[in-house]
This record gives sequence, structure tokens and C-alpha cells, in this order.
Amino acid sequence: MIQVHQVSFSYNELSVLEQVSFRVERGEFVFLVGPSGAGKTTLLRLLYADLIPIAGDLSVTGQKLAKLDKMSLPYFRQKIGLVFQDFKFLPDKSVRENLALPQKLASTAPKFVKESVDRFLHQMGLSHHQHALPTEISSNERRRLAIARAVINNPVLLLADAPTEGLDLRLSLEVMALLDALNFQGMTVFVTTTDRQLAEKCNKRIIELRDGGIHFFSNR
Ligand code: ADP
Repeated sequence: MIQVHQVSFSYNELSVLEQVSFRVERGEFVFLVGPSGAGKTTLLRLLYADLIPIAGDLSVTGQKLAKLDKMSLPYFRQKIGLVFQDFKFLPDKSVRENLALPQKLASTAPKFVKESVDRFLHQMGLSHHQHALPTEISSNERRRLAIARAVINNPVLLLADAPTEGLDLRLSLEVMALLDALNFQGMTVFVTTTDRQLAEKCNKRIIELRDGGIHFFSNR
């Protein structure tokens, strides 16, 4: 599902990743752990072709990213669900409208949009907030909205950037249980966190990113 081979990346003079290599198989749930500033977000941005590596090759959902052109980028991104660290909601649109947006962009028929939006609102416990703005719900509810929006188009791969940052253990485990349920349905899940203990509690494979490289693989 993900193949990263000898990938290096720098922002101008600042080298962030040096010859990073790892694989994630279809159906896996993998944590990418590392301290703040280690390059986790950078690596995710490389995976969804938001950044281009200075060296090395990436292949994601069977697509070699070096061969991706502008025309095929939207099609490639449709297969990936993204949970951004800062959520990136449309601030003046309701919870319901934010959730419906990916389906509208994918030209899904209105009847099906309504059905799946209702289903996800219900599943995520957000039905009673559907007409609220994203700023009017709790931070935990915003996270659930971000996850729902990422998966509403049924992607094969979910990339979640620090989805539990700032949450206490109980709420973090709730978010992880949601991701686990999606993984159980067959979605490959790749999650970043600074919280190694949380990753260890979840009993999944862990990849550690530190000092520009992959340092440690734990096998469950
Ligand atoms: P993490 O997600 O692990 O906290 P990041 O990938 O966000 O790490 O950042 C890795 C390093 O790259 C940090 O030193 C950060 O300051 C730097 N960085 C991140 N984004 C940019 C950018 N757009 N321009 C310049 N430097 C950046």
C-alpha cells in the first residue's frame, strides 16, 4: 500500500528526512511515532504528493508518485483519506456541509450524499450538532468530524496526522478505537503521534522517525 525507498527531503537548507525506507502492507494499521519536528507531517505530505522528494521513490496505493501528473493527482487523492493536524474545515459552513463536501466534489448523487452524511453523523455522535459551525463543537467532536470527512468517500488508505494531539488518554483511546474499526473494515491506516506510550497501548506496528531517519520497527 505504501512503499518508501531511500527518500530524502529538505526545506531549503534544512534537511528533514535522509534516505528513509519502509513499507506498509494493505490492511495494516501502523503508527509513525517521533518527537515534534521529527518530520512526520513532512513524510505524510510526501505520501499524498503534496511535496516532492529530493531523492528516492514513493509508491502509494499502487501509484508511483514520480509518474503522477497534474491530471491524475485528483484521482490519486480520491483513494486517500486525510486527517489534517489543523483539520482544515470550512469555517463558515456547518458540520453537515463540511462532511458533505468530499462527496459533492466527487459528484456523488444528492440522494446518496444525504444517506451517507446522515449515517456518518449518527456513527460519530454528531447528529445533534449537524447545523452547528465547526467552532461551535468540542475539540473531540471536531476530531470525529475530521475522521468522518476523511473516510466518507471510502478511501483505501487513511493518513491521520496527530489525530489525538492534546487529548487525554481516554479520549485518545476513543479516537484510536474509531480508527481501529475502520481498519477492521479493511482500510489501511497510517497514524502519526508524538505519544509513544499511546501507540504501544494500541498494540499495532510502530515505526519511529528520529534525527531524519527510521530508527526502530516494532513487530507486534
Ligand atoms: P513533525 O510533524 O514531526 O512535528 P514536521 O514535518 O512538521 O515535523 O517538521 C519537520 C521540520 O521541518 C521542523 O524542523 C519544521 O520546523 C520544518 N518545517 C516544516 N514545514 C516547513 C516548511 N513549510 N518550511 C520550512 N520548514 C518547515
